[in-house]
Amino acid sequence: MDPLTYDLLIIGGGIHGAGIARDAAGRGLSVLLVEKDSLAAHTSSASSKLVHGGLRYLEYFHLRLVRESLMERERLLAIAPHLIERRRFVLPYRSRLRPAWAVRLGLFLYDWMGRRSTLGPSEGVRFAESPYGRPLRPTLRFGFAYTDCTADDSRLVILNARDAAERGADIRVGHHLVSAARDDKAWRATIRDDSGGVTYTVAARTIVNAAGPWVGEVLQGRLGAAGKRALRLVKGSHIVVPRLYEGEQAYALQHADRRLVFVIPYLRDFTLIGTTDVPWSGEPGPATIEPMETEYLCDVVNRAFQRAISPADVVWTFAGIRALQEDGSKRASAVTRDYALDLDAPAGAAPSLSIVGGKLTTYRILAEQALDKLEPWFETLRAPWTGSAPLPGGDIGGGNADALAPALSRLYPFLGDALARRFARAYGTRAMRLLDGVKSRDDMGESFGGGLTRLEVDYLVREEWARSAEDVLWRHTKCGLSATPADALRLRAYLGR
Ligand SMILES: Cc1cc2nc3c(=O)[nH]c(=O)nc-3n(C[C@H](O)[C@H](O)[C@H](O)COP(=O)(O)OP(=O)(O)OC[C@H]3O[C@@H](n4cnc5c(N)ncnc54)[C@H](O)[C@@H]3O)c2cc1C
Repeated sequence: MDPLTYDLLIIGGGIHGAGIARDAAGRGLSVLLVEKDSLAAHTSSASSKLVHGGLRYLEYFHLRLVRESLMERERLLAIAPHLIERRRFVLPYRSRLRPAWAVRLGLFLYDWMGRRSTLGPSEGVRFAESPYGRPLRPTLRFGFAYTDCTADDSRLVILNARDAAERGADIRVGHHLVSAARDDKAWRATIRDDSGGVTYTVAARTIVNAAGPWVGEVLQGRLGAAGKRALRLVKGSHIVVPRLYEGEQAYALQHADRRLVFVIPYLRDFTLIGTTDVPWSGEPGPATIEPMETEYLCDVVNRAFQRAISPADVVWTFAGIRALQEDGSKRASAVTRDYALDLDAPAGAAPSLSIVGGKLTTYRILAEQALDKLEPWFETLRAPWTGSAPLPGGDIGGGNADALAPALSRLYPFLGDALARRFARAYGTRAMRLLDGVKSRDDMGESFGGGLTRLEVDYLVREEWARSAEDVLWRHTKCGLSATPADALRLRAYLGR
């Protein structure tokens, strides 16, 4: 029997795979996406959670990347207002690191490139006269403030996959590409379902290799490509501590090694701090933080904030690996964050397209460009469409996600403010679908701590491919930060059933 044939087989359920699946399904292609672990299991849940132009990239004259990222920031705010939040960033001035005129010029360029943005312009700030100065050490007297965005990275992946599936894409988690071989018309791919232990074959006219840090391994080891792409693997780690200061502003701290470390209010009760940049030479994953990275991040914070932190304050850590284009930079932090789309299409053979590098921020435009590259292999491909179509739950009137939480509280008074806000941010208008028919807290079923109930867990399993307690606690939600070990154990037992 002939194997099932798809237009497009996508390897990898990170932001790039999910974004391309959504775009392609909406343009009329039949799509299969296989992810060996869970959606957003790797780099795409380990980012600094910024949707930003990348102020720092101006120093390396990556002007196209900054301009494109700023345009994407605006688009993502419009299509996913529940997942993306505007935030003021404060950059304390340290005279020995960069001259004030250079920072001012950078911010001027940033404002100018994002001039069509709905976000306000940058400004100078005297800390003695501003609430932004309150948490800082008195030696820091002056700085700058600008606006960028923060995002829920893993939910951005999941909701792209959700939308792709609603447009016909077949999303399979726990399935990995073993190998693939091609002839002039199609690829024949061998895929293994790791939960059932079954191996099967599908045919696909094209393959997208969106395997993130495994992109090289998939290209050479599984797709049999002849050429070798020069890659640089760089690990970045973050720590999370109990909330460090009042206020919703984030800080961008310059360090003596010229890197910027972000300090960002996280989920009401916490502060997120990162990232590091560590060259990586081992297997692409999984990655974990090392003690010296934790100490480095604590040290950067302690040089700027009055309240000192130590490794003992850390309540959670995560680390991810970027597969960057090798550009010969000496320092890992200086390697370009721009992306490349490598087409491998020998004459008379079905093509593959590998995604190298990239940012959460630019995933949508990257997906559009990936489809444009593959267009010659399809007779019909509908026009690009993702620039203005809301992601699931993003169809919030006026784009004001903050107004959704009080509306949910009014409709479902038993939720309480904190849960209403969490649902509004995580699910947007889809919170109504989640809560359909629920009349009381009891209707939400068994509690697993941190506001997580059976109702939500069932929804995540049914609609969002959650399979394990780790998926639910750390990717689909961040309830892991408040769940006790006993809660997690009960959740594991529940999902095991
Ligand atoms: C520390 C850090 C901080 C960052 N901060 C930001 C930020 O603030 N803002 C921003 O815009 N960007 C940021 N980025 C960049 C951004 O996170 C990445 O560009 C993006 O997540 C990469 O997504 P991906 O889909 O390519 O890779 P991944 O998310 O890693 O997805 C690849 C997937 O492929 C799967 N896979 C691999 N091999 C196979 C196989 N054989 N079969 C099936 N599946 C397979 C893997 O399991 C994995 O889930 C950051 C990156 C890092 C590391």
